[in-house]
Amino acid sequence: MTDFKGKAVLVIGGSRGIGAAIVRRFASDGADVTFTYAGSKDAADTLAAEIGAKAVKSDAGNRNDTITTVKAAGALDVLVVNAGTLVMGDPLETDPDAVDRMIDINVRAPYHAAVEAARQMHDGGRIIIIGSVNGDRMPFAGGAAYALTKSAVQGMARGLARDFGPRNITVNVIQPGPIDTDMNPADGPMKDTMHGFMALKRHGRPDEIAGLAAYLAGPEGGFITGAMHTIDGGMAA
Ligand code: NDP
Repeated sequence: MTDFKGKAVLVIGGSRGIGAAIVRRFASDGADVTFTYAGSKDAADTLAAEIGAKAVKSDAGNRNDTITTVKAAGALDVLVVNAGTLVMGDPLETDPDAVDRMIDINVRAPYHAAVEAARQMHDGGRIIIIGSVNGDRMPFAGGAAYALTKSAVQGMARGLARDFGPRNITVNVIQPGPIDTDMNPADGPMKDTMHGFMALKRHGRPDEIAGLAAYLAGPEGGFITGAMHTIDGGMAA
């Protein structure tokens, strides 16, 4: 447990999966948590009521929504941009609109959210983007567009770390490997293939990602910035 009492935390995309685990972790550690959702209103309302957080409907694929939501959240101590989608398949057959929508959510939203948050963020604030081990390694066919989005946030974090470093605001990317969520269920059809690439033959749990987010946002994480933090059961080893 880390003490986040009195800290203002915004999680972009917190209704389900990894984002919901991050919301839960910060709330249980005492933070005032606001999180966004797009499609999962019931899940968002249930989570918010259960832990005393605030849920806000905001489409991360819409730049104005993102900027307006971050601005309205005020002076943050921690921003986590978790919202993400996965479009996989033969690039010759994949709908280009679906690819562009994924780029909007996975790349443009983290950038605009981070920049908008930094305008009001307290000195010493923390910005955490949920990337993927696929930013470093894409061991399957069909993942080029997704990998593109997760590599893009690496460069973004390196650059913004330098932009905001003078205010002691850190910018980091967490790069999960397979994590058991709706996006990538532990009993899904790809599990054996994925586990074949890993040192630890299992999916990770969302709370394992939330633990790393809490570390990076906590007092012991203050000297870590512009860095990629892979938590993947050895998939990239
Ligand atoms: P899920 O599909 O289980 O959950 C996705 C979350 O993102 C939901 O809360 C969803 O909210 C939110 N979200 C999606 N699109 C939008 C949008 N347009 N606006 C606002 N919120 C949105 O995914 P995971 O929890 O598995 O993934 C979370 C992040 O982790 C993603 O960035 C993903 O790329 C990354 N990741 C996941 C891995 C895995 O194996 N699970 C591995 C590596 C990285 P709602 O339902 O309300 O729209």
